[in-house]
Amino acid sequence: MSSQRPLNQGNRRDPWWNTYSDRAQNLRESEVRSLFSVVSRPEVVSLAGGMPNIKDLPLDKLADSVAELVRQHGAQALQYGQGRGWDPIRRDVCEIMAKEGIDGDYENVVITTGSQQAVDLITQIFVNPGDVILCEAPSYVGSLGIFGAYQADIRHVAMDHDGLLPDALEAAIKQARAEGKAVKFLYTIPNFHNPAGVTQTMERRRAIIEICDRLQVLIVEDNPYGLLGFSGDPLPALQSLNPEGVVYLGSFSKMFAPGYRVGWALAPHAIRDKLVLANESAVLSPSMMSQMTIHAYMQEFDWFAQVQTYRGMYQERRDAMLESLEQYLPICEWTKPSGGFYTWVKLPAGLDAKDMLPRAVTGLVAYVSGTAFYADGQGRDHLRLSYCFPPPDEIREGVRRLAEVVNREKEL
Ligand code: PMP
Repeated sequence: MSSQRPLNQGNRRDPWWNTYSDRAQNLRESEVRSLFSVVSRPEVVSLAGGMPNIKDLPLDKLADSVAELVRQHGAQALQYGQGRGWDPIRRDVCEIMAKEGIDGDYENVVITTGSQQAVDLITQIFVNPGDVILCEAPSYVGSLGIFGAYQADIRHVAMDHDGLLPDALEAAIKQARAEGKAVKFLYTIPNFHNPAGVTQTMERRRAIIEICDRLQVLIVEDNPYGLLGFSGDPLPALQSLNPEGVVYLGSFSKMFAPGYRVGWALAPHAIRDKLVLANESAVLSPSMMSQMTIHAYMQEFDWFAQVQTYRGMYQERRDAMLESLEQYLPICEWTKPSGGFYTWVKLPAGLDAKDMLPRAVTGLVAYVSGTAFYADGQGRDHLRLSYCFPPPDEIREGVRRLAEVVNREKEL
């Protein structure tokens, strides 16, 4: 229930300040977004944002393809579509997921406005205020924002270099239930975790599936980086191990380009129906123009060769990041990602990543404080470094600058 606040309090610059819903009170600017203006200053080396580097896309050829699409199929591309998404791209998505062992039926795919919206829809259809969502400690800042907005009781479950700890997961489920709480789902990022940079081993995947199946907890598997591994084949998706117990979320943002805002959910049939209704209510239909453009891209271009180009570029940047951490910051500890965009750095005892950030920015380097990735204020002893956007030399310079800041902080 929204309580009316006395009129003589609050923010007087906003005449509607006491009219907002309780849900809106929980909307927060993410610590990543609030850094945007700082990190866009050219003199600052930003190791903060998770922006994919799309500079190698064949822009001229893509432009021709879009022009042809509008000429030939403009009446359809510029029209509304169906809430579940356009069938050809629902089929394309199944082709992509097959690379991670998923045998998905295109009928169970819902196209969304980025996977960010898929997280929103899944939370909307399952979570009442106070319901428990389990997620890794730490977890993706964008999803934590959504869970908070729906007034979920967010509980972080410990992880290590092999991913989520099964014993801690089982204990968290049992603890919440002992408190009389409904546990609505486990939200997990099994591959090249954002922000932790680790990947769940096969053994962990099996254990997590077994626990959630036995204790009847739905899994939401968020996998935007899955194809961006630097060596070997991708591990099987959790969805492939238990299709009825997992909602899988995928995205074109990292394997192609984020500007189209196209992602998807693959869900057991009944959940799929609810997601379609929620999608129709939120956006009527996902963008036909974006879906048709991506479908044309998958038909006319070698999309997997592009994924391999991305892998090579990000691997070179990952190497630059890990080598320079080794060289300049041996007093810290960090994870060694085998794909994706991020490494998770532990500061020496006594240092505080959130407090240090303004001094880092003065030292012309930016990162995201670990606190952004927890719902409960933890994470001050960690920071996330991303290596996706700056070229290798800038990454080295950024880590060198960061080391200066950390070493100065140690002396204080
Ligand atoms: N999940 C994770 C783990 C992410 O890192 C991101 C983007 N940073 C998203 C979801 C959202 O991606 P998009 O909406 O662009 O598909």
